[in-house]
Amino acid sequence: MPAQNPEKAILIIGDGIGDRPISSLKGKTPLEAAKKPTLDTLAAKGATGLLHVLSPGIPPGSDTGHLSLFGYDARDCYTGRGPFEALGAGLDLEPTDIAFRGNFATVRLTKDENFEVIDRRAGRNLPEGAELAKLINGIKVPRFPKVKVIIGHTVEHRCVLVLRGKGLSSAVSDTDPHGHGDSVLASTPMDESPEAKKTADLVNTVTREFHRLLKDSPINAKRKKAGLPEANIVLLRGAGVLPVIPSLKDIYGISTACVAGGALYKGVARSVGMEVLDVPGATASYDTDVEAKAKATAKALKTHDYVFLHFKPTDSASHDKDPMKKIAMVEKFDHLVKTLIGLIDMDHTHIAITGDHTTASTNGKHTGDPVPLLLVGPTIRSDDVSEFSERACAEGGLGHILGMAVMPMLMSALDRSPMFGA
Ligand code: ZN
Ligand code: ZN
Repeated sequence: MPAQNPEKAILIIGDGIGDRPISSLKGKTPLEAAKKPTLDTLAAKGATGLLHVLSPGIPPGSDTGHLSLFGYDARDCYTGRGPFEALGAGLDLEPTDIAFRGNFATVRLTKDENFEVIDRRAGRNLPEGAELAKLINGIKVPRFPKVKVIIGHTVEHRCVLVLRGKGLSSAVSDTDPHGHGDSVLASTPMDESPEAKKTADLVNTVTREFHRLLKDSPINAKRKKAGLPEANIVLLRGAGVLPVIPSLKDIYGISTACVAGGALYKGVARSVGMEVLDVPGATASYDTDVEAKAKATAKALKTHDYVFLHFKPTDSASHDKDPMKKIAMVEKFDHLVKTLIGLIDMDHTHIAITGDHTTASTNGKHTGDPVPLLLVGPTIRSDDVSEFSERACAEGGLGHILGMAVMPMLMSALDRSPMFGA
């Protein structure tokens, strides 16, 4: 391993950037229809290909997609989304903790004592989220006196729950029914173990306790008065334990940093040992400050060998089934890349640009379609492709490869990929 390697790497992810042909765009994808001069110029300079992020035809989640792009086999190390959200919320996890994703939601108690979901997101805009989390953080559950109940708020209606104690299991089902008008589900054990049984019982008890404390809180009284949906329960999903995986430093001997707005991406980055930078203005929303993110990335590159830069709004536009918005967000992504390359030394920087999956603007879902990949840098052999899009990159010199290959390819460009054999 060279002690002083001046070569740097950046992985830039446009979340869900791939798409399907859209009839209102005359069969083009939003990426094809967008004006993206910087991405096209880089495609002309570099090498392109198509990426099957997990394997052909398998729609990746953002968590498994990113694990794969960081070079890990998600099938070996994925333990559920909860722990990544918890890490991203800034909570530290112990190996036996059980972590869940949570939503503050609005429910009403029915005659038969069920909680009927009125709004899964309690109106989504929940400026009191952190305060509500504080209200239920650290509560004591009489039947489980040794269990610590930790709640952390992330953004909007989103939060995380961590259960800390002996003899708990992540093999428990969600309480989130995912639909409006459905009843909150009872968590059930997913195996025969006493630990799973105990944890499901604990989850159900904690859920009722959260409702009891939240429903009469002054915050909800105020929201009710203002005609806003009350945040009177926490819906839970994605139970998991901290994945035990070697860090990128262990594997490649590199120092790594992350510039992202969303808790999930920060959490996956932390799980592989990245330093997560605090970047004011970097939100995971449409309004994310791309100038701030580009500056933070360029600055981080001075002190780290590898920086992961995440851009979320391309995915959100597709989930909103809004191809025109996606075009605008691809153009915003292009501006992010343009600003960044104006700030760094391209003679010593290798960049990979791709997506963590396709998100189809037609159905609003992650799909198994491959995504375009672009590698550019001083050691990269260029190909004949001069456009960054799904169709153009299909002709590229990198061919059609798996997501797990991106990290070793970047590291190889930096002469940091360990040799196999003698
Ligand atoms: Zn994603
Ligand atoms: Zn998505």
